[in-house]
Amino acid sequence: MSEDKKEIRSCFMCHRTEEQAGEMIQLPGGITVCRDCMQKSFDAMDNPEIRSMLNLQNLTSLRNFPDMGMFRMDNSLNREEKKTQETRDKAEEEEKKPKPVFDINSLPAPHRIKAALDDYVIGQEYAKKVISVAVYNHYKRVRTNTNSLDEIEIEKSNMLMVGPTGSGKTYLVKILSRLLDVPLAIADATALTEAGYIGDDVESVLSKLLAAAGNDVDRAQKGIVFIDEIDKLAKKQNTNQRDVSGESVQQGLLKLLEGSEIEVPVGATSKNAMVPMTTMNTKNILFICGGAFPGLEEIIKERLTRSSLMGFGSSLKDEYDDDPDILTRVKTEDLRKYGMIPEFVGRLPMIFALRKLDRDMLVRILKEPKNAILKQYQKLLELDEVKLDFDDSALEAIAEQALERDTGARALRSVIEEFMLDIMYEIPKDDNIGQVLITRAYIEKTGGPVITMRGSQTPALEDHSRDEN
Ligand code: ADP
Repeated sequence: MSEDKKEIRSCFMCHRTEEQAGEMIQLPGGITVCRDCMQKSFDAMDNPEIRSMLNLQNLTSLRNFPDMGMFRMDNSLNREEKKTQETRDKAEEEEKKPKPVFDINSLPAPHRIKAALDDYVIGQEYAKKVISVAVYNHYKRVRTNTNSLDEIEIEKSNMLMVGPTGSGKTYLVKILSRLLDVPLAIADATALTEAGYIGDDVESVLSKLLAAAGNDVDRAQKGIVFIDEIDKLAKKQNTNQRDVSGESVQQGLLKLLEGSEIEVPVGATSKNAMVPMTTMNTKNILFICGGAFPGLEEIIKERLTRSSLMGFGSSLKDEYDDDPDILTRVKTEDLRKYGMIPEFVGRLPMIFALRKLDRDMLVRILKEPKNAILKQYQKLLELDEVKLDFDDSALEAIAEQALERDTGARALRSVIEEFMLDIMYEIPKDDNIGQVLITRAYIEKTGGPVITMRGSQTPALEDHSRDEN
């Protein structure tokens, strides 16, 4: 065929000719499409919303479509394959996290919310109970949307969690937001400043929430904001210096907590002329504040001792000294004494404490949650067909070492990572290893793990590789 007789092909979708749009892809039925349009179609099909609209849940199946071989789309397919792989990786990662279980528009009774929390959060029974009831009431209130004056308005269920570091405050809120599938913003109170000072304005917490909701204002307005280290905003005690910074941030937070319309910068944490703004109503946002409140125990003890000294059966002054759960007796007046302003505490009607984790709780945290650290390591070694076990005293030893670090459950991962590094390095070297038992001696560096070879019922040897060090 001579050059000038060659048929001029144009794109079925954008109508550009081959000359304008480059080489065409021939589809069955005499249709030609340019590469750009083909790519756009694939990109569109990669979008989950469009995919579900077209009922095309499994994009990879397109690759198996028999006519696909005639398309010259190596690049786009590669890209698509890469994307699918990325999505798959993400999905695997997501698998470890809790899946949304509830719909905030039809929340089940509080005991079911608590049961779902139980799968992930160990102990802290009282805190889980309070949270379940508060969340249940909060979203019931959101649903009924009582605005008119003749209706009884249900009070917001904002919460204040008091608890030592690493006791699960942030974790509890994270799990909750995932189970409910609502956006969550975590902010640090120490980063917040009065408007006009260097730092983040209080409105920045709403910008974060908006970002977490993918800039969907409606979704953000039903989300959760967690403000950590709230105790750092307390008025300083016994100082003659004027210290208003924390106090004024507390003042600034009041309007968010009670529910009002707030101008929020979109896509940034501070207002300036270049940043677009949107208005958010905080009426239905659940605010949860958390803090360790060091020294609060003394204030509670003082109150309890004072009140008990006033009656019969007056208790000894040091009666509460050894009470590990003294924080659970916290009351609004203690927080006021600590330096939180009354209006602020007044807007957090649910006040409760998390317990300091003891050795037994730490052991349970190691093995019981759905995504427990031990289960994660066991799964990793299982992929190498090696069975990983820990004897009970090894778990206790790990918990004891974690306790010494005094950072609650947060220390568990670092303790376990230290010795698991050797295991994860050494074990895959030898294909014959079938089972590894971690013992207290190994954790305490006085011995090795017990190793059993494949096909053998009894432990073959103890690995003393660490003894040399
Ligand atoms: P904080 O109270 O300081 O906010 P976190 O919630 O950040 O502590 O806890 C740190 C980590 O410890 C969490 O990511 C979680 O893995 C683990 N953890 C803490 N408390 C618990 C618990 N009660 N149950 C299960 N895991 C916990």
